[in-house]
Amino acid sequence: MKDVKEHELMLKGKTAVITGASRGIGRAIAIKLAKHGANVVVNYRNSVDAVAKVVKEIEALGVKVLAIQADISSYSDVEKMMKKCVEEFGSIDILVNNAGITKDGLLMRMKEEDFDSVIDINLKGAFNCTRHVSAIMLKQRSGRIINISSVTGITGNAGQVNYSAAKAGIIGMTKSVAREFGSRGVTCNAVAPGFIQTDMTEALPTKVKDAMLSTIPLKRLGRPEDVANVVAFLATDEAAYITGQVINVDRSEERRVGKECSQGV
Ligand code: NAP
Repeated sequence: MKDVKEHELMLKGKTAVITGASRGIGRAIAIKLAKHGANVVVNYRNSVDAVAKVVKEIEALGVKVLAIQADISSYSDVEKMMKKCVEEFGSIDILVNNAGITKDGLLMRMKEEDFDSVIDINLKGAFNCTRHVSAIMLKQRSGRIINISSVTGITGNAGQVNYSAAKAGIIGMTKSVAREFGSRGVTCNAVAPGFIQTDMTEALPTKVKDAMLSTIPLKRLGRPEDVANVVAFLATDEAAYITGQVINVDRSEERRVGKECSQGV
């Protein structure tokens, strides 16, 4: 029993920043890291009511929690957010670049602004956050950066040129950051979820969800907690020798569905 307790508190005293933590996968990650004893900063953009509920849930776990509104695509917003985190908690040990959006459409009809906004939030947002924690983590000679990519960033997907480009970019960024920061004890890994049940995928027609399901080895859609469990492991000391990796959670990347499944992951 004692061992279980210790395992549950593997992140005690650490500070974690999770972007896009008001809903979905980010919310599950924030709660999971808090259950492991971390103090958490829950970033959000619009969902004021949802983030208030997340804060309450995390407070009940007995750790410190701070909600910060910031658009991660803004370099200056992110700079202010990270400064506030350090003022409040003294350090940043774990950064989870989770916030993301989709603006799906076939390339022939994709609007320029739909390409730009997906790249700005999903890819540049991760750069902004990593950039502003880099000096802190390198100075303290420890840190964990965990980027949420997507299986789509590995396979590509019809109707998601913008999103899959951003998610593939995240993988390149992850591998490069791993090489730049490794000698200072800072690891950087990516998690590539398949089809996870959140607001992002909720709107898809049943036909599309069924087609997705047929490609999933475990024959069920993923839950946000399935992603949070991997992120929590990567954040611990037990993952200290893993860096530059991409872990799928899990729609097998070899078994693809085609155009009819062109949205949502
Ligand atoms: P979601 O339910 O739509 O939640 C998105 C979160 O991102 C919200 O908390 C939202 O905050 C936040 N966000 C969006 N734009 C933001 C911005 N500019 N600045 C700060 N926060 C912003 O999405 P999800 O399904 O949980 O997805 C989370 C991550 O997993 C994304 O990177 C997504 O691409 C990736 N992913 C998801 C799936 C899936 O099947 N669901 C599969 C593969 C990868 P507000 O609501 O406060 O605006």
